Amino acid sequence: MTDDLLARHRAVLPSWMSLLYDEPIEIVHAQDRRLTDSAGRTYLDFFAGVLTNAMGYDVPAISDAVRKQLDTGVLHTSTLYLIRSQVELAERIAERSGIPDAKVFFTNSGSEANDTALMLATQYRRSNQVLAMRNSYHGRSFGTVAITGNRGWSASSLSPIKVNYVHGGYRYRSPFRDLPDTAYIDACVADLVELLETATAGDVACLIAEPIQGVGGFSSPPDGLFKAMKEVLDEHGILFISDEVQTGWGRTGDHYWGIQAHDVVPDMMTFAKGLGNGLAVGGVVARGDVMDCFQAESFSTFGGNPVSMQGALAVLDYIDEHDLQANCKARGDQLMRGLRAANSPFVGEVRGKGLMIGVELVEPGTTTPNTVAAKQMLEETKKRGLLIGKGGLHKNVLRIGPPMTLTEAEAAEGLQILVDSLAALS
Ligand code: PMP
Repeated sequence: MTDDLLARHRAVLPSWMSLLYDEPIEIVHAQDRRLTDSAGRTYLDFFAGVLTNAMGYDVPAISDAVRKQLDTGVLHTSTLYLIRSQVELAERIAERSGIPDAKVFFTNSGSEANDTALMLATQYRRSNQVLAMRNSYHGRSFGTVAITGNRGWSASSLSPIKVNYVHGGYRYRSPFRDLPDTAYIDACVADLVELLETATAGDVACLIAEPIQGVGGFSSPPDGLFKAMKEVLDEHGILFISDEVQTGWGRTGDHYWGIQAHDVVPDMMTFAKGLGNGLAVGGVVARGDVMDCFQAESFSTFGGNPVSMQGALAVLDYIDEHDLQANCKARGDQLMRGLRAANSPFVGEVRGKGLMIGVELVEPGTTTPNTVAAKQMLEETKKRGLLIGKGGLHKNVLRIGPPMTLTEAEAAEGLQILVDSLAALS
């Protein structure tokens, strides 16, 4: 760092705003899948701003779409007027969602999207009882910290939402981990049934879940869990919300939405991050009758603004035109194969789908979380010119989520750095 930016950051920004690395970096330039910091060092980016820069950096098709909107002079006026790009994007997302009679509301972030979904579900069901998954993360708003099953990320416990947590999302440390897939699903569903019968008053509004837990360390239950859970929810009229903030738009390789791996259509999905490729855009897509359940008026000043809408439309085009879902599958398989072949004693599990790969680090020969090794891996990879992320309940999971445009050569380059860094662990 060329000046005292870190000290100034510490002085004026909140203590709870986390920074990665012993010496945090300041990014001053970006191109394709590479970032350059203020010290002139260039890194291959395997975290994409926490899966936000899904197309990579400086993508002409996206910049041009945004520039064209800026050239009209209309950064934004108000969603009280008609915005053509907003309607177009809503139509496309509604159609892709598979949700019957779907309607879309745009927000500026994933937290706000989940907050809206919670407000819809609780209003629709006239109940403030919510089910969430253990080890979940759904955002930083007052509503969403209340349904985040990871103590390290729950900044406040004072929410009026009543929440109960269900087993299932984080298999590696689940009491059911050693069961085969079907028995694992049965055990999780039995847990859900018992929870409904004992811990709740029976009038639960919704279950919200990430198909692959993001902050929780890129862990996912066996395919089919959420279909089995939804059958129970349907018996009670409980709504199912899939939080697709990290898993949407094809990143998981086999599917466009993460939840499709479970062969189930949710009542609502929330999205954000990759849709804007760095522009602030999020939203909810929901069954029409659920979306329309508010009696009072409600709107968002910036949600659905034309700059974000044009950028997002260009992103969706780019994903389809370059078949990035298939690329995520191929590059994800390449990386996972290589990571498993490295056979490091520090790796308890390599898991994930497409370009959402988690590497659970453990004390060799045990399943004990190895937080020190995770921290060391971040520094070792950075030293070698690669940026990755970290997460998990015990902060011992490496999170690998490169831009969806990652090339085969870049995947090989990053993989080599990961393998070399694992070998450097002691
Ligand atoms: N849901 C999930 C699954 C997330 O990973 C995140 C962000 N990490 C959020 C919601 C919140 O999104 P935002 O930070 O845009 O508010």
